[in-house]
Amino acid sequence: MGIVVQKFGGSSVADLEKLLQVSKHIIKEYEKGNKIIVVVSAQGKTTDRLVAEAKEITNNPNKRELDVLTSVGEQITISKLSMLLNKLGYKAISMTGWQIPIITTKEHGNAKIKYINKDKINKLLDDNYIVIIAGFQGIDEDSEITTLGRGGSDTTAVALAATLKADKCEIYTDVDGVFSSDPRIVKNVKKLDMLSYDEMLELASMGAKVLHNRCVEIGKKYDIPILVKSTFEEESQGTIVETSSLESHVISGIAKDNNISRITIMGLENVVGKTYQVFKLLADNNINVDIIVQSFGENVNKNLSFTVKNNDLEEAMRILNENINVINAKEILYFKDLSKISVIRSWYNKYSWSSF
Ligand code: ASP
Ligand code: MG
Repeated sequence: MGIVVQKFGGSSVADLEKLLQVSKHIIKEYEKGNKIIVVVSAQGKTTDRLVAEAKEITNNPNKRELDVLTSVGEQITISKLSMLLNKLGYKAISMTGWQIPIITTKEHGNAKIKYINKDKINKLLDDNYIVIIAGFQGIDEDSEITTLGRGGSDTTAVALAATLKADKCEIYTDVDGVFSSDPRIVKNVKKLDMLSYDEMLELASMGAKVLHNRCVEIGKKYDIPILVKSTFEEESQGTIVETSSLESHVISGIAKDNNISRITIMGLENVVGKTYQVFKLLADNNINVDIIVQSFGENVNKNLSFTVKNNDLEEAMRILNENINVINAKEILYFKDLSKISVIRSWYNKYSWSSF
């Protein structure tokens, strides 16, 4: 008997038939006498649809309002799953991120979990409830609704497992674990039985969508083994992500990300602190910069290229153009919709190579 956290992704909860299959996994663990916390995503492509609807109104929706809108997706799933479990004769209750509460930082659309109040959850678990919690969402210290970034329900699940010192954290998805590459695109891929946190972190940050990279960071920090497995394959053994074993693969996987934009700042003065000034401007606005390349042209000035996510391009360009005189650049160019292929090496663990 122990505490089990089970997380079900969007494709696992897409319709009623799938919710029924999800219920079977929950009931199986509950009947063993475990205390169950379930974290769910929005059904199917609900979040994509909500974002698209916001963009019908304006190309650049207010981030606070976008969080109020997109957080709705998970709320629909928790209530439906709870009703279904009730109908099947089980005590279940739905909880939003703000009811728990899951307290986050203030960055709308990319908030980080600061802490989770355990009191309500523990009380409900003691009363034998299956507690169904909305992934992806939280609340900041000013009671503002926040979201954790796309794919963030995984992070909700592992953060809950860490807070409650769970015995197991299972992430259910539509594929049987983590593969050496995307099985929906590449033939003859290999399922990996085990991966270290570092390998998984590399794969996740390089674009493998199977796990949100921040959930792997939490798993590593609090030593929570994360089991990734299929909701639909009965015999699914999945992939366990945990502290590295002595023997490991040389290359554990290949990841692709085709949501990349490259920004090139031309004619940047080649003086100490210039690059820092550019990246600080972006960091202050929560824009992550990935691959960075510098080159030198015909004069002493340099060209600085780096990649950002397609979603961040518009804002990054706005910030840079507004500050073009501050950073003293000649011209700022961009290329959208590029792809990045990354080879994940595990033996030397820290290195991966990317090209774009
Ligand atoms: N529903 C959110 C998304 O689609 C969060 C998640 O599924 O993890 O990104
Ligand atoms: Mg996901």
